[in-house]
Amino acid sequence: MKITDITLWVVPLTSHETYYMAGGKTCDTVDSVILRIDTDKGLAGWGEVCPIPHYLAAYAKGVIPAIAEMAPVLIGSDPIGPEAVMHRLDAHLIGHRYAKSAIDIALWDLTAKAANLPLYALLGGRQTKDMPLYHSITCVAPEDMARMAKEAYATGIRQFQVKLGADNNWEADIARLTLVREAVGSGALVYGDWNNSGTQLDCSRVARTVSHLDIMLEAPCPTMEECAAVKSASGLPMKMDELAHDTASLLQAHRMGIMDAVALKLSKFGGLSVTRRARDLCMHLGARMCIEDTWGSDITTSALLHLAAATAPRNLLNTCDLSGYVGPRIDENAPTRQNGRIAPPSGVGLGVSPNIEVLGQQAATFH
Ligand SMILES: [Mg+2]
Repeated sequence: MKITDITLWVVPLTSHETYYMAGGKTCDTVDSVILRIDTDKGLAGWGEVCPIPHYLAAYAKGVIPAIAEMAPVLIGSDPIGPEAVMHRLDAHLIGHRYAKSAIDIALWDLTAKAANLPLYALLGGRQTKDMPLYHSITCVAPEDMARMAKEAYATGIRQFQVKLGADNNWEADIARLTLVREAVGSGALVYGDWNNSGTQLDCSRVARTVSHLDIMLEAPCPTMEECAAVKSASGLPMKMDELAHDTASLLQAHRMGIMDAVALKLSKFGGLSVTRRARDLCMHLGARMCIEDTWGSDITTSALLHLAAATAPRNLLNTCDLSGYVGPRIDENAPTRQNGRIAPPSGVGLGVSPNIEVLGQQAATFH
């Protein structure tokens, strides 16, 4: 089998609820890049990447030029065995993990379709019927966040990510964590996320004040050293996210004792191939994993659900239904949350059939 064509679309995704994070990061309408790889055997693989502005070393307008640079290596290649293809791309263009993520997902879709298997079968085999979801609560007034948490609890959600720090008001952050913790009752998991934008002083004051509560901290500060100081000031468990993006940073966070849990985002690591390797490393390190991506619609969501379904439930903290936070849906039949949980699509490959009309005009093609 040989790759013959690569087609790209840019689809604006609008959040159902504008999403405020620390550091001035806002998610309202953002561009998602959708990619299709066609082959001479008539099989096609789909990929997607949706960077959030100012969030990671990634931006939506960078995806198409990076793929243009890699297209000559891809065209004519055999797509079966994504890691071999990605190895050649890594030698051709260093970095640009976010752009490679969309390609890598499409190669896995193609490989699984050629094998006539659902993708999870190639990522370790299905280990669970469905997976728990967390619900992320935008950083607004504490009372509103508690109400949103209650609404999500009523739908079956039992894990709550509380965004902190958007207004640089550490006392409001204490109220956010305290009110959400009260709203969802004991047993549910509540964690406060600064998206690496807090100061060591403010985060330590917040963490010490809530340290008598059952709360996990996520990504308080820009460096691992500051995160470690916040953790030691409070004794609370900590989840890593932005700072853990490759093997070296996972190992460093583990050594520093700040990785009780970690977010494995496909485009942060560079696609399914490298995130699968990170998943296996985290199983060894004992970090509970949130398998997800930065943002996106049904293609990204399906890819991460296959990896989450192929991960031992004991090691999986939760996963994310990104497509449930935004519109439009790329595939109306793709999975949705049911009682706080979600299952991967059935069918071969990713199991996603994008609606070409929703994708609109093609943004670029390579032959
Ligand atoms: Mg996070």
